[in-house]
Amino acid sequence: MKIAFIGLGIMGKPMVRNLVKAGYEPVVYDIVKENVEAMSREGIQTVKSSKEAAQKCNVIITMLPNSPHVKAAVLGEEGVLEGAEKGSLLIDMSSIAPLASKEISEACAKKGVRMLDAPVSGGEPKAIDGTLSIMVGGKKSDFDEAYDLLMAMGASAVYCGDIGAGNTTKLANQVIVALNIAAVSEAFMLSTKAGVDPEKVFAAIRGGLAGSTVMNAKVPMMLSGNYKPGFKIDLHIKDLNNALDTGHAVGVPLPMTAGVMEILQKLHADGYGQEDHSAIARYYEKLAGV
Ligand code: NAD
Repeated sequence: MKIAFIGLGIMGKPMVRNLVKAGYEPVVYDIVKENVEAMSREGIQTVKSSKEAAQKCNVIITMLPNSPHVKAAVLGEEGVLEGAEKGSLLIDMSSIAPLASKEISEACAKKGVRMLDAPVSGGEPKAIDGTLSIMVGGKKSDFDEAYDLLMAMGASAVYCGDIGAGNTTKLANQVIVALNIAAVSEAFMLSTKAGVDPEKVFAAIRGGLAGSTVMNAKVPMMLSGNYKPGFKIDLHIKDLNNALDTGHAVGVPLPMTAGVMEILQKLHADGYGQEDHSAIARYYEKLAGV
């Protein structure tokens, strides 16, 4: 397996480092020159386009923001499909619309390129530790072929069904995370304004039924007011948009998701789109006049 990795952002860089640790020799590319240079300084082989990455490799991993970015990198000029050999495998690990995964996969199939959608959960800390949760759609035989490679970046890789099933699973994940952060923000504002030290509230309830991975990861950020991403508010808006679109398509109303979407959009309008999604707490501070 010769691996190309396209998209060297918050998640991509540590995922590449874990591939290197596992003995792979990835070839990497990003449209932002500084990101490519940062990897080059670590001794990792770099190329000048997605096309060149695909020419040099038979497995191409993409880790990009959203559907249009994946379409540009795969289907666009100097893109993966201009360089990929027949039989190559594209593994898109970005979180994108399930429908976009299907469209990209169909375009790949016309060139004899196979595709898996394999988005991840766990955020930057688990990308660094190589303990991501990976949810995968596509042909089962392609999943089996890619399993060891995926496990170089994750603690689990679960086959969810046909192409798009990975991203459909990821939408469920993103709805739960967004609602959980909003619930934690709302509850902590209540107890803080009613006079209890939030550190005490955290210590008292984190081990009970209300405790969660979200609470453990995000409350320390809220308490310190440090909202360096992490996972950007703008990326969560993208995911909830995809969830609401999918809800409309399959006839599932998502009233809570729609509510949190309003909060995220307000934060984006106030200039906080590049902050971590734990900055939902800022919205409650404004509401409560804190
Ligand atoms: P990011 O914005 O930090 O990185 C994305 C990278 O893609 C950037 O370096 C950008 O320059 C590059 N890029 C954009 N278009 C490109 C193109 N056409 N060709 C080559 N490179 C291009 O984003 P991230 O936080 O690393 O997230 C990547 C994906 O992973 C997103 O879909 C996100 O929703 C998902 N995700 C992120 C987290 C997290 O905590 N950050 C967690 C789970 C999943």
